[in-house]
Amino acid sequence: MVIAIDGPAGAGKSSVARSVAERLGFTYLDSGAMYRTVALAALEQGVEPAALADAIRIELGDRVRLEGRDVTREIRSPRLSEAASRAAADPLVRAAMVAHQRRLLSEGDWVAEGRDIGTVVAPQAELKVFLTADPASRARRRARELGIDARQVLAEQALRDQRDATRAHSPLQPASDAVLIDTTSLTLDQVVDRIIGLVAE
Ligand code: C5P
Repeated sequence: MVIAIDGPAGAGKSSVARSVAERLGFTYLDSGAMYRTVALAALEQGVEPAALADAIRIELGDRVRLEGRDVTREIRSPRLSEAASRAAADPLVRAAMVAHQRRLLSEGDWVAEGRDIGTVVAPQAELKVFLTADPASRARRRARELGIDARQVLAEQALRDQRDATRAHSPLQPASDAVLIDTTSLTLDQVVDRIIGLVAE
């Protein structure tokens, strides 16, 4: 079974997806971590992300590894958020990442989080959820996680939202059969309970 959780940065996808996976005993897939890791490898090697998207070895799990090296913390920096969003606009990069994600999702039970899980990666997912929240509260959440100023996050987030929503390939949009949940005034537990309820249905 696949549960797809999509939405913009800071809507609470990661915490919600992790928690739903834990409660159901499913495996959690953070697809954004893949784009971040490709972007990191490209920056380090001074090449375009598309040049290595097919070739690099990314491992996901409790830790994120690039060719065996632990990059879990490094890929969370604002610099990598920006680089990942640029890498993700390249159709060659997307094709490589989507193929990798589909291979993973082909067996077992998953809660997969991203931007295009319900629309492109796993349109057959049994449950699709699209999380939203107002931009200011998304920026506050992100700022708290990163320990930086919310105004700076808000400005960067607006750029990234714009790029993710208007790119030609797989722009961020809810699947037609996704359940929309606005998390602005909900707690993590409320969102998780709601999704577990939908799974039960
Ligand atoms: O979710 P996260 O913020 O870690 O993702 C980083 C970037 O990767 C996003 O801004 C988005 O551009 C891209 N991404 C994507 N498709 C996904 C997951 C992430 O385009 N499924």
